[in-house]
Amino acid sequence: MVAISSSLLSLHQHTTNTHLTRYSFSIPARTRNKTKPVSLTIVSAGSDIRKEEVVIVGAGIAGLSCAVSLHRLGVRSLVLEQAESLRTGGTSLTLFKNGWKVLDAMGVADELRSQYLEIKGIIIKTEEGRELRSFTFKDEDQTQEVRAVERKTLLETLAKQLPEDSITFSSKLAKIGKHENGETLLELVNGTRISSKVVIGCDGIRSPVAKWMGYSEAKYVGYCAFRGLGDFPNGQPYESRVNYIYGRGIRVGYVPVSTTKVYWFVCFNSPEPGPKITDPSLLKRQAKELIKKWPSELQNIIDATPDDTIIRTPLVDRWLWPGLSPPASSGGTVLVGDAWHPMTPNLGQGACCALEDAIVLVQKLAPSLKAGPEAIEDAYKSYQNERWPRIFPMTVRANVTGAVLQLENPLVCAIRDNFLVPKLIRLGPMLEHTNFECEPLLQTKV
Ligand SMILES: Cc1cc2nc3c(=O)[nH]c(=O)nc-3n(C[C@H](O)[C@H](O)[C@H](O)COP(=O)(O)OP(=O)(O)OC[C@H]3O[C@@H](n4cnc5c(N)ncnc54)[C@H](O)[C@@H]3O)c2cc1C
Repeated sequence: MVAISSSLLSLHQHTTNTHLTRYSFSIPARTRNKTKPVSLTIVSAGSDIRKEEVVIVGAGIAGLSCAVSLHRLGVRSLVLEQAESLRTGGTSLTLFKNGWKVLDAMGVADELRSQYLEIKGIIIKTEEGRELRSFTFKDEDQTQEVRAVERKTLLETLAKQLPEDSITFSSKLAKIGKHENGETLLELVNGTRISSKVVIGCDGIRSPVAKWMGYSEAKYVGYCAFRGLGDFPNGQPYESRVNYIYGRGIRVGYVPVSTTKVYWFVCFNSPEPGPKITDPSLLKRQAKELIKKWPSELQNIIDATPDDTIIRTPLVDRWLWPGLSPPASSGGTVLVGDAWHPMTPNLGQGACCALEDAIVLVQKLAPSLKAGPEAIEDAYKSYQNERWPRIFPMTVRANVTGAVLQLENPLVCAIRDNFLVPKLIRLGPMLEHTNFECEPLLQTKV
């Protein structure tokens, strides 16, 4: 359409940059409910462009697991991360057996296992403390493995598998587009320009790469979560199981992560996502206020939470409607993890699925890298065809589960507490989505 030697599609229409020429136009991008135009800008680029074969945008769980998987198969990649360092704050993530299988295949699971407790089961109570139901994971499925790991440790463990200089920090992607040679052209906020045969967008729920590919913003689902990691330097006193408490329009959970740390969350209905709050004492006060009449145990865990591990997150998702959502890849660019399929955390599967995506993609992509663009596109298509039937239903199920658990209606909650949970729910079928198989990453397979 535009005859220029190389072009960049800008994500920041109002940025000015003197050595770039701009042209504006609109393309339709499909959203969950409607088609709306996304305004993009084409920019001609100069020649000071660095060449890479594989670039990964984002050093989160998806990005680092793609990089480690590629590395295991003998493929070098460059990871671009906007932050100055790996995310060292934050709380923990519960990983089910599917997540552990991928970490095993990457060769890092045992190092993590040795630091985190195996969670034996789950107990569900009402806000008055009445027990509704309890399950033991291994009674339902001998192969189930559930552990909560600290996000920071997971990221550090993955990052240290990579050769030095694999991750460049303070490298925020500003613009993305096509180079005349068919490769993807990336421009960073610091002005660096990189052309790459393969770009893997692992840049999370507000992914600029996904936006460029025509994806809509993830949609707020009507409730937020406070999360934190209680610290008990002299040892935490809790049994190794998930404690879940159901209220009306609010639910709470806590689970021992290690011998000294306890993860907790409070999910509460809120018509709006609300302002971003970073003051930890305010976050603690707000979280405690929501559950002030509930059993005191949780208040104590919140009190034991260091400032840098408490956060409040509005929860969002985006459904990959068949025939309506853009494909997972465009030319040499492909999406992985939250960048492709943000989902609510109600099944504890966002990170597990990011890990699954990474290994599935890399096992298809690595052998095709030498064969050229068509083979790469075939690998991407095969990745999408394999992953979509797993991801789309999981995103919908997580959303519906959350909607049911956040109901406020007293009658519906009474039915849930007196009939559904005590008599009807079975854990086995509820965790069937954790069945996943993958092969170890062996370099001989490329
Ligand atoms: C309340 C809550 C609880 C959760 N609990 C669980 C759980 O128990 N189990 C589970 O499996 N999952 C859970 N999840 C989901 C899980 O956190 C995510 O699915 C997972 O972190 C996705 O990883 P990611 O790498 O795709 O994205 P992210 O972790 O968001 O990483 C994206 C990275 O890209 C970087 N980036 C973004 N933009 C740019 C840019 N322009 N340039 C360069 N870098 C950029 C970011 O800085 C970041 O490092 C939970 C989520 C929430 C909100």
